[in-house]
Amino acid sequence: MLQLVWGGHKPLGAYDILDTLKRERRGAAPPTVYRALVFLLQQGPVHRIESRNAFVGCCLPETPHGGQFLICLVCGLAAELNDVRIDTAIRNGAAGAGFVVAHGAIEVEGLCPHCQDGEGG
Ligand SMILES: [Zn+2]
Ligand SMILES: [Zn+2]
Repeated sequence: MLQLVWGGHKPLGAYDILDTLKRERRGAAPPTVYRALVFLLQQGPVHRIESRNAFVGCCLPETPHGGQFLICLVCGLAAELNDVRIDTAIRNGAAGAGFVVAHGAIEVEGLCPHCQDGEGG
């Protein structure tokens, strides 16, 4: 499962994962997949891309972090940007407002380098 999410650069939807699991393992029910995903999300190696309702492997599973994601609007590729300064700024700003951050991921949409010059290659 973990390798499955890590395997591609594109975020995987829960049902994509389920489909792959079904091919590999007969009888994998949706609740099993969701439980596994929740476990991975809580343990840190997988992030949820809220705007895509999809999951992507974390590039820094050892360290707790919110993570920033650059999501391409054309090809759907998601790159994780781990800038501690951004994390810290969010947490400090939130703390200043008396707010405790539970889920600090930032999703930035735009164009990946490949899609910016689709013609040139
Ligand atoms: Zn991460
Ligand atoms: Zn792209």
